[in-house]
Amino acid sequence: AKIQKGTSNSFFHSDMGTDLARRLLIERDLSGNLKAKGFHFVLQPQINCSTGETDGVEVLARWHHPKLGPLSPLEFIGIAEETGTISHLTKHLLNEVFSFLKYNHKLYHGVPRTAINITPSLLTSRLFFEDLFRLMDKYQISSDWIEIEITESEELTVSEVTLENLLACRARGISIALDDFGTGFSMLAYLMDFPIDKIKLDKSFISKIGFNLKSEAVVKSLIQFVKNIGCKLVAEGVESQAEAAFLEMNGCLIHQGYLYDRPLLPETFVKYYLSGDEY
Ligand code: C2E
Ligand code: CA
Ligand code: CA
Ligand code: CA
Repeated sequence: AKIQKGTSNSFFHSDMGTDLARRLLIERDLSGNLKAKGFHFVLQPQINCSTGETDGVEVLARWHHPKLGPLSPLEFIGIAEETGTISHLTKHLLNEVFSFLKYNHKLYHGVPRTAINITPSLLTSRLFFEDLFRLMDKYQISSDWIEIEITESEELTVSEVTLENLLACRARGISIALDDFGTGFSMLAYLMDFPIDKIKLDKSFISKIGFNLKSEAVVKSLIQFVKNIGCKLVAEGVESQAEAAFLEMNGCLIHQGYLYDRPLLPETFVKYYLSGDEY
């Protein structure tokens, strides 16, 4: 039988049965008490390469499934988007992250602005944003503690409701970032229509640094483009010193990637980034 990622302990036999049973299991377990089912989050810092300061941090969902073991977010986020449980999943995450932020803001000299990935289908939901603002009140989350990261795993339509939701965030002072810039369906349309504060340069561009002159010219142009429209810029997936040096030389100073740190468990993040301990 075909070997699938993450299914070494699978007890299913036929290929079809495996795929279907696996999917159904994931689908079923995406409801109810997610924490009890091994769902949690990690944090990856965004570092200013010239000062070494932590400029922000991104929340990434993780799921150690009780039967299937660790699952890639690419798999379970995709299923959650298709089946509509992404709303439940994201709200669960917001509760966990907000409780973390509230606690640590009290204990330390603040936490860097924390970005949460929001999928297009939620951007079109008034209800989701009502819940978001209600949770912010509940946990006393200040607007400048958080950022919304617009992902584009599904196509995002430039609708009236989406615009209203984003303007409501902007009015409160919640920062809005555009994820995976350069790869999406209609990024330029979003930039024209939506209030975007920050752009995240996709890692596929970063990995082409050092590849050839043309690919480097593309990266340089994108950096210049983001500067011209007055947005903040973060480079994603920075893995090597050479990439970091190229980005710095061309004016892109905020970097996120394995060169600096992997996504960390919250307690590890606190230890190294909030409590002042050195490695
Ligand atoms: P993304 O939002 O573009 O997140 C960045 C991905 O790149 C993460 O993968 C991160 O672990 C990985 N990464 C970070 N630094 C490096 C690096 O230097 N090199 C390479 N090759 N990769 C790096 P991850 O955690 O597997 O997440 C995959 C995707 O799943 C995310 O891509 C995002 O689209 C989605 N996702 C994750 N958590 C959530 C969530 O809570 N909500 C939603 N809607 N989507 C999520
Ligand atoms: Ca993201
Ligand atoms: Ca991204
Ligand atoms: Ca790379």
